[in-house]
Amino acid sequence: MYRCVTQLKGLVIDADSFYNVSKSRWKELTENFKCVFITSDKENKIEYEKLYSEKNVLYLPGYLKLFAPSSASHAKVLDMLALRTTEIAYITKETRFLDNALSFMSGVVWVTEEVTYQEASRAADLICSGFDALAALLKKGTKGFLGEVVVYPDSDREGLIIPVKFNVDGETYLMCMLGRYFGYSHYMNQLHPYSTAIIRNKSKGKAYGVYNRVFLSLYKTTINTLKRNHKIDMICSVPARPGQEDRFKKIIEELASDNEIENLNASFNCISNYPIQKASSQMERESNVKDAFVLSNRIDGATVVLIDDIVTTGSTLKACIRELKAKGAGEVICIVLGINQLGGTYWSSDAPELYCQDCGNKMKMMVNSNDGSFFYSCFGPNCRGVSFREAKRRIQTQVECRIDVTEKDYIL
Ligand SMILES: [Zn+2]
Repeated sequence: MYRCVTQLKGLVIDADSFYNVSKSRWKELTENFKCVFITSDKENKIEYEKLYSEKNVLYLPGYLKLFAPSSASHAKVLDMLALRTTEIAYITKETRFLDNALSFMSGVVWVTEEVTYQEASRAADLICSGFDALAALLKKGTKGFLGEVVVYPDSDREGLIIPVKFNVDGETYLMCMLGRYFGYSHYMNQLHPYSTAIIRNKSKGKAYGVYNRVFLSLYKTTINTLKRNHKIDMICSVPARPGQEDRFKKIIEELASDNEIENLNASFNCISNYPIQKASSQMERESNVKDAFVLSNRIDGATVVLIDDIVTTGSTLKACIRELKAKGAGEVICIVLGINQLGGTYWSSDAPELYCQDCGNKMKMMVNSNDGSFFYSCFGPNCRGVSFREAKRRIQTQVECRIDVTEKDYIL
């Protein structure tokens, strides 16, 4: 789901990154969107100007292109398009441009043939494999990852399952990514319903398990998609730590019986009370979970689907995969609700925030335990909560004010 865009009207294209796409092909998109082409190549500039008119091309010398989009070039393209931050999307094939673009609340679309796990932890709003896929997605109005789209209030049901290459001991495994998870230190944390749904659903509290049905439906859709190209034999989830409730129990049971595949959970166990992983480094995490999981039987040649909710370093999944492989698994495919997103420097510290109009305290996004709907609350005894719709309106106003007013004076 685009982080802040509701209606996409304009595209800002990192033109040089599409050197292998014929320049005239963008005409397929200029019918439906206002477009600006950014280039640091003088010949490209002339060609794009011929095809799409001078007022739609932004030339940036190489040294400025390195930092693009910057606040200055962002303000410039908004002017050129006569649109707001929340109405445009950046499109690129390049990771540096992608990283810069992610510091704005505009949409970001990344065109790439493959996504590694590293790259998936700084993920764009929309990811697609080439120009044809890009044109099709934009025409269809696809807004992002399957999980994020399905959970988003009043959204449609169509979203992307992104195949991520997950490397374990030199071998590559397929990880199906259904969305992004923005943790507490990320500016998107309080602005992202999907992340709130995932964390409230697994934390002990009123909303515990409220999203189980929805998440089950996401896993089902993914398995149905996988079945087109894979013969799946077995399914399991990351085993719960000793003495902990297995919150995937019902989900795995239903997925197994639905697909008539073997449920491995009864024989796949966690035997070590490894430390809670939050504060530790990648190395520590790997050694913490080493030998923590044991499968009690052989599964020679089987294709196993392994399910988890949030992945951060991937150490737990790696340990599970190693054990499944050690017991003979032919192929292991992971399905994860969200990959934890690193770094969030929206104007360094200027991320939009919601304050209670009664007491002035910061508000938090919550999940209604009856129907799973989202709202914001400050927990003050006499304060009123704010509906998601109203909160979103206020957040969008903040985002637009900051960029449209403050940044317009920047000189390119
Ligand atoms: Zn309050």
